[in-house]
Amino acid sequence: MKILKILIHIILILLLTAITQVGGVVYIISLVIKISLIKKIRLNRKLFFCGIFTVVYFFFSILIVPPIAKSYGREALPVFSNKNLKPLNIMTCVLNRHYVRPELKQNIKSVAKKMSKKYPNTILSYLDANFPFYNGFPLLPHLSHNDGKKLDVAFFYKNKLGDELNRKAPSFMGYGVFEEPKHGEYNAPKNCENKGFWQYSILDKFVPQWNKDDMVFDSNRTKSMIQLMLKEKSTGKIFIEPHLKTRMNLQNNKIRFHGCRAVRHDDHVHLQIN
Ligand SMILES: [Zn+2]
Repeated sequence: MKILKILIHIILILLLTAITQVGGVVYIISLVIKISLIKKIRLNRKLFFCGIFTVVYFFFSILIVPPIAKSYGREALPVFSNKNLKPLNIMTCVLNRHYVRPELKQNIKSVAKKMSKKYPNTILSYLDANFPFYNGFPLLPHLSHNDGKKLDVAFFYKNKLGDELNRKAPSFMGYGVFEEPKHGEYNAPKNCENKGFWQYSILDKFVPQWNKDDMVFDSNRTKSMIQLMLKEKSTGKIFIEPHLKTRMNLQNNKIRFHGCRAVRHDDHVHLQIN
């Protein structure tokens, strides 16, 4: 029984580290606090531990992680402070998945500011970026988001009446609801699946598609955003699905196909700096 308990602790530590990078360490600290205090407190043990974990986790995320991340050359993207640039889903920040190099932060802040000038009230929504520490530590499931140089950004959408929407995507997490190839467009997802790359459209099977019919892909604002990204000096590569590159008439050799070993990019834009 004791071995099983230890095994569960180890699995949780590994899982929290994989999802948040610092969660595993916070879990160990919370266990030590719990063990040292448990005899003095008459509370449900599991509830008490959850309370300790939550307090320590937010204490670390808000006060300890940002200054240490600076020494790794990474900064957090704005959470509430920038009116033009915000996370699509606040959980990206709660899980510490919003850290980038200062050059990339500058790049996307500049794009967001220019977008709001061209399209008033537009808010650029970011998705997964990188963890705060260590080059080579991947932000799963994005293997390449491991050096502070990568950032995923949500597409723009309109409602059925043609009103511009902000911080809204057909998927709650920003991934997994696709702007599919139309009849006659090059179909890279089908091509990759035919070659045996089963993982290419895998999110389709897990992400609920409930908002899909209420939102229309806003190709004007999405195209403008990509064009502004291309004008930023630090921009190295942009990944989107080939049929969208053609549909939006984007011609620039910095816009590349990410290859069949990756996953689909017709639900978000991947931006990376040099
Ligand atoms: Zn990406």
